[in-house]
Amino acid sequence: MDSLWNSYTANIGYAISQLCIAMIMGGLYFLAPTERSTRYWALSGLLSIFGSTLSAFSISRFGYLPLIIGSTLMIAAMTAKWWGTQAFFGKKPAYVGWYFILFFFIAFSLMLLLEAGPSARTVFFSLPLAILMFLNVVEVLIARKFNLSFATSLVVIAYTLAAADFIGRSVLAVEGTVDLSPQSHDPINVFGLYFIPMWCNLLGSLGLLLMYFESIIHEKEHLATHDELTKVFNRRALVSLGRREVELAHRYKRPISIFMIDIDHFKQVNDTFGHDAGDKVLRKIAQTLDGTSRNTDMLGRYGGEEFCIICPQTTNEEAMKLADRLLEATRALRHRACDNRQITCCLGLYSWNPERDLPANWETMLHRADTALYAAKEAGRNRMMQYHVEADSVHDTPSITLPFDKKNIST
Ligand code: GH3
Ligand code: MG
Ligand code: MG
Repeated sequence: MDSLWNSYTANIGYAISQLCIAMIMGGLYFLAPTERSTRYWALSGLLSIFGSTLSAFSISRFGYLPLIIGSTLMIAAMTAKWWGTQAFFGKKPAYVGWYFILFFFIAFSLMLLLEAGPSARTVFFSLPLAILMFLNVVEVLIARKFNLSFATSLVVIAYTLAAADFIGRSVLAVEGTVDLSPQSHDPINVFGLYFIPMWCNLLGSLGLLLMYFESIIHEKEHLATHDELTKVFNRRALVSLGRREVELAHRYKRPISIFMIDIDHFKQVNDTFGHDAGDKVLRKIAQTLDGTSRNTDMLGRYGGEEFCIICPQTTNEEAMKLADRLLEATRALRHRACDNRQITCCLGLYSWNPERDLPANWETMLHRADTALYAAKEAGRNRMMQYHVEADSVHDTPSITLPFDKKNIST
């Protein structure tokens, strides 16, 4: 009985594994058709099935055509995988891939027509494939800045090994000691052309799949704590962060400052320029507030056009400097969506001083910042005001709002 260890059985195994990958990726694509990466990855599996099967056809019986088409399909399959990985990281699939496939098709056909030897054919097929596999690795490493998770490590290791395998084939081909044609039953060939790529492709695709799930889980967690429109913390996350920061401030007797921020006359923006323009303004202002405050500060959208910034370990003096920066940064914006208009904000500040103020809970502190905000609105908008607890308020009689009118700037 012939050994089962031959290129036909290996090819069937390889094709089945590719079919599994194509089905899983295809299934995912139909679940979320707006996701382009899974479409390319499914296409890659399908192209691989036909490519590897056609390449294994006997040349003496069928001529060079199946080998040419099969090899080109394999190159196209790896290009599609690379495109999928690019799409996954939000990039546009590189157009150069088409030229790569076309160039390979023409050059490989010419090689065969000119009766190039099997070694040259193997090198010419293996090196582009190795490059394409490595491009997947490069995409992952760049996108994740070399900070790899289990899933991304799997992709990197699997495709690096697969690329190394194909480079190894090129070296063997130059040496010329082993028959490396797709139809060869030489065990080294069967192992290097079918088995290693099959396992690497399976592991690599598993890695891509896990990477895809990782991103969905991350997105789900992000949505639970972040506002969809402005991408800053949502109210729920902000309240829980606020409560925790206030507790920490009390526990370690550290100052804390809280801002409530409201966009001025925002209803007019919506009424004049439409809701979409309003949304753009909201996003831009949120980005500006975020970029202007420190990394340790926490910005959240408290409601419609109201934001809140929690500044842990921030004294009143520091918070006032930040208020200046926030007002200036928002004033400097010219909103393209609204005829390049300037849109201003009001800030209400409350700074808790552990040496001066009695402990107050998060709700109380927020209410104080809110009171100051409304005082700023009443005083004419486009300014910051802060809530003072009287110095003699040891009995906690914070009933007095002394609107500290910061420079009283209004434009
Ligand atoms: P003031 O200076 O007193 O704060 O006036 P204002 O117009 O900003 O305040 P008001 O509370 O009257 O209006 C707030 C507006 O914010 C009304 C609402 O339509 C708008 N708004 C709330 N959420 C969103 C949103 O997500 N997108 C858009 N475009 N508008 C929003
Ligand atoms: Mg407003
Ligand atoms: Mg408001």
